[in-house]
Amino acid sequence: MDLLDESIVPEHAREIKQDAREFAEEYIEPAAEEYYESGEYPWDILEAGMDAGLVAQDISEEYGGRGLTLEQILAIAEEFYRADAGIALTLQLASFGCEIMEHYGSEEQKEKWLRPVAENEQISGLAVSEPQTGSDMAGMETTAEKTDDGYVLNGEKYWVGNAVEADWITVYAKTGDSDDRYSNYSMFIVPTDTPGYEAEHIPEKMGMRASKQGHIVFDDCEIPEENLIGTEGGGFYMLADFFNHGRIIVGGHGIGLAAAAIEETWDFVHGRTAFGRNVSDFQSVQHILADMRMEFESARALNWRAASKVANNDDAGFWAAVAKTKSTEMAVDVAERGMQLHGGRSVLNEFKISRVYRDVRIPVIYEGANEIQRNLIYSQGSL
Ligand SMILES: Cc1cc2nc3c(=O)[nH]c(=O)nc-3n(C[C@H](O)[C@H](O)[C@H](O)COP(=O)(O)OP(=O)(O)OC[C@H]3O[C@@H](n4cnc5c(N)ncnc54)[C@H](O)[C@@H]3O)c2cc1C
Repeated sequence: MDLLDESIVPEHAREIKQDAREFAEEYIEPAAEEYYESGEYPWDILEAGMDAGLVAQDISEEYGGRGLTLEQILAIAEEFYRADAGIALTLQLASFGCEIMEHYGSEEQKEKWLRPVAENEQISGLAVSEPQTGSDMAGMETTAEKTDDGYVLNGEKYWVGNAVEADWITVYAKTGDSDDRYSNYSMFIVPTDTPGYEAEHIPEKMGMRASKQGHIVFDDCEIPEENLIGTEGGGFYMLADFFNHGRIIVGGHGIGLAAAAIEETWDFVHGRTAFGRNVSDFQSVQHILADMRMEFESARALNWRAASKVANNDDAGFWAAVAKTKSTEMAVDVAERGMQLHGGRSVLNEFKISRVYRDVRIPVIYEGANEIQRNLIYSQGSL
C-alpha cells in the first residue's frame, strides 16, 4: 500500500517528491526508532539531507538556495513525515523563519544571513511563543527597546525549534504600546552568540523526540539597528503572512503521519489472525479501514487545493487554516483507530504506530492551536 500517490501532486513537484521518498527510505525511516529512544538531535541525517539538496532549499536561487515552491516543500513534508515526524521536523526547521527575511529583509541582510543557511553552513530558528502564551500573538511580552545604537531585548521565548542549535534566530518582540495591539511588534535577527542570549532545551517530550526546542532568556541582549527586519511595527502582519505558508506544510505533517498510520495498520490486520481468520476479514475492521481511507483522501485533496490557493495568494489565511486543521485532526483520528486495530502491540515502542500516535498530538497545536485556526476560518470564511 502506498498512500502518498503522486497524481494529486503538481507536475513540477513530482521529481523532488521522488528524491524525498528515496532519502526518507534510506536515512529517516531506518533511524526513527533509535532517535526516538535516544532523543538525540539527528545531526548526521540533517547533514545527509543537506548533501541531498533537501534542506533549507526554499530560499531562492539568488541567495544560494534552490527556490523550492510551496508545493515542492509540501511534497517533501508528506514523504518525510510518513517516515518519521521527529527527524522530519529537524530537517524542515533548519531554515525556519528565513522566509520572513526573504520577503521583508534588505539585500545586505539576505546576503549576510540567508546565504549561509541556503548553503547549509548555518541553521536558523523562529522565536514567537513565550512561556505565558503561544496563541495570543498580540499579547507577547518580550520587548525590544530602541537605543542610540540599535535595540535591547528583554524577555523569554519558549518552544523555539533550534534555540540551542541555531546560528541565528528570527525573534518577534514588542516595540510599541499603541492601542492598535497588532502594530506593536517587530522582527529581529538575533545571532545566538550575542551576549544576553541564553538558551536551554525544554524538558523531554513524549513525541517528535528527534527534534529539539528551547527556552530562551533575553537579558539586556543588544543587537544593532541593522538587525531589524522590514519596518518597525510590521511584525504581526509579517508573521500572519508567514504562517499561511507554514500551515499548508503543517497540513502535510498530518498527511504524512496519517499515511504512516494507515499503511502500518493495513499491514498489521492483514497479517494478524484472531478467531481462526485474518483480523482484516472482519467486516467491521474493513469498514474502519474504509473510513480511514476516506478521511485521508478528503483531507489530502483539501490540503493540495489549499496549497494552490495559498501559492496564488487567493484567500490564503482561510485556506491555510482549513488545511492545517483538517489534515492534522484527520491524522489524530486515524492514528487512534490504527492503535485499536493493533491490539496490545499498539503500545510497544518498537511498533511505529505508537510513535505516530504520540506525534499526531503535536501538529494540532503548533503553528497555532486548531482553536485559533477555527477563529480564522470563521472570520475569514464569509466570502
Ligand atoms: C513541538 C513543538 C514545536 C514548536 N516550535 C515552535 C517554534 O519553533 N517557535 C515558536 O515560536 N513556537 C513553537 N511552538 C509553540 C507553539 O506554536 C505553541 O505551543 C502554540 O501556538 C500554542 O501556544 P501555547 O502552547 O502557549 O498554548 P496556549 O496559548 O496557552 O493555549 C492553550 C490552549 O488553550 C486553548 N486556547 C487558547 N486560545 C484560545 C482561543 N482564543 N480560543 C479557544 N481556545 C483557545 C487551546 O486549546 C490551546 O491549545 C512549538 C510547539 C511545539 C509543541
